[in-house]
Amino acid sequence: MTSPTTTTQVATPIPVSQLLPWAGFALLMAALLAYFVGVEGGVSSLVNGPFIHELTHDGRHLLGFPCH
Ligand SMILES: [Zn+2]
Repeated sequence: MTSPTTTTQVATPIPVSQLLPWAGFALLMAALLAYFVGVEGGVSSLVNGPFIHELTHDGRHLLGFPCH
């Protein structure tokens, strides 16, 4: 009778050199999201019209960004 073998799964660490581009991309996306939610509209508007401002308006108030 053989004893059941157990397999151990060892997580392979991700090298920092492969992680940095994704971290930079995530930081860029977070900065863009913070911009569009926080300050898009008015003088600093990148998109003409009130669409982005109105789309993110509730989130702006929820996160405490100054609005009106
Ligand atoms: Zn508002």
